[in-house]
Amino acid sequence: MSNSRKKSVLILGAGFTGCTLAYLLKQKGFEVTVLERDKVPGGGCRTYWYGGHPYTLGPRIFFTRDEEVIKLMASLIKIRQFYNKTWSYIENDKEFYHYPIYGADIPKMPDKDEILSQLEERKNKEPSTENFEAYWLSVIGPNLYYKFIDKYSKKMWGIESNKELSIDFGWVNKGNPIRKKDTRLYGDMFQGYPFAADGYNQFFDEALKGCRFISECNVEFLNPQTRRVKTSKGEFTGDIIINTLSVDTLFENKFGKLKYSGREIFKIILPTKQVLPDDVVWIHYSGDEPFTRVTEFKKITNHKSKDTLICIEVPNQEGQHYPVQTMAEKLKFSQYQKLFPKSFYSIGRLGKFTYKGIPDVIRDAIDTVKIINS
Ligand SMILES: Cc1cc2nc3c(=O)[nH]c(=O)nc-3n(C[C@H](O)[C@H](O)[C@H](O)COP(=O)(O)OP(=O)(O)OC[C@H]3O[C@@H](n4cnc5c(N)ncnc54)[C@H](O)[C@@H]3O)c2cc1C
Repeated sequence: MSNSRKKSVLILGAGFTGCTLAYLLKQKGFEVTVLERDKVPGGGCRTYWYGGHPYTLGPRIFFTRDEEVIKLMASLIKIRQFYNKTWSYIENDKEFYHYPIYGADIPKMPDKDEILSQLEERKNKEPSTENFEAYWLSVIGPNLYYKFIDKYSKKMWGIESNKELSIDFGWVNKGNPIRKKDTRLYGDMFQGYPFAADGYNQFFDEALKGCRFISECNVEFLNPQTRRVKTSKGEFTGDIIINTLSVDTLFENKFGKLKYSGREIFKIILPTKQVLPDDVVWIHYSGDEPFTRVTEFKKITNHKSKDTLICIEVPNQEGQHYPVQTMAEKLKFSQYQKLFPKSFYSIGRLGKFTYKGIPDVIRDAIDTVKIINS
């Protein structure tokens, strides 16, 4: 920076996005203030303990092909590389299958002949880009779609129809809807989790060193004219403001609330060393069950104990965990974008209202810092 006065940056939220921003901007010589509602940084990726077992709010594995992101993560904490599998339980078939869908499982399915002829009909045809449902039907056919995708997706997002969803999700497995070889979840990229028992906590704590971190500070709204942020601890501003929170509350719900799917996490200790098979870390429940997923934390954290901790994820309408990327909600978000004042950036999972994983939001932070510093 050529300017003699240090430029100030105000960051709203101390999840992975906010902490990565704080870390990088501080290194570039900015004066950084971070406002966070909770007592501690990290959001749902923070590690807590139950019955001696470390856990996060649902599984939070680190997986990416992005070398710059891996390097940044590894500069703050040591990551243990590991691979695992995930399964889906299909009640109609009374069977567990690999998920993502695995070609070698199809011959075990009671309706295998129908499935194979549906796949044959679709061979060499362009996938539909109309919506989420049309995409999946066009690549895997109705039998596999209703087995694995339809009900799971509806309960995951709390929606009536998968036609409401656009197809621009990272996880719409474009080009490879059925795995042929590797049954590992992310076998084709780096997958890992911190060595430390407290997971990513050191990342958050290290990243915020040298910044002004204001905890238990609830951000209420931003006045776009004055660029002042109203919070439970008074008003704040900065030469640059970076938001990682949901933009609806930030702009006083001017265009209505954005829709999110929340998660209630039920933790259960079971009196057995291990409950899922060796290499299976979680199971999706793809039918009428009220929950989406059951995870065994030991498989991720490598915690050693005579008992085991599982978590069950039950979708709700309260939390802001998964932005519901229907066409209507994306349009609403674009209205909010028009309110953004000058020297204001909105990034991360909530700030961009886009389904993003940990590496994606770290990438957002890296790119934003490059723009600010150019
Ligand atoms: C159940 C679940 C499982 C997941 N599993 C994975 C996984 O395995 N791998 C992966 O890569 N990604 C996973 N993700 C996604 C990943 O956790 C997110 O990409 C990442 O946490 C987003 O970071 P963020 O900083 O953008 O947002 P957040 O982590 O949501 O951080 C926002 C921060 O802002 C704070 N905040 C919110 N409102 C206010 C307010 N009004 N005032 C002040 N502070 C506020 C919050 O307390 C939080 O600390 C998962 C997400 C969920 C919900």
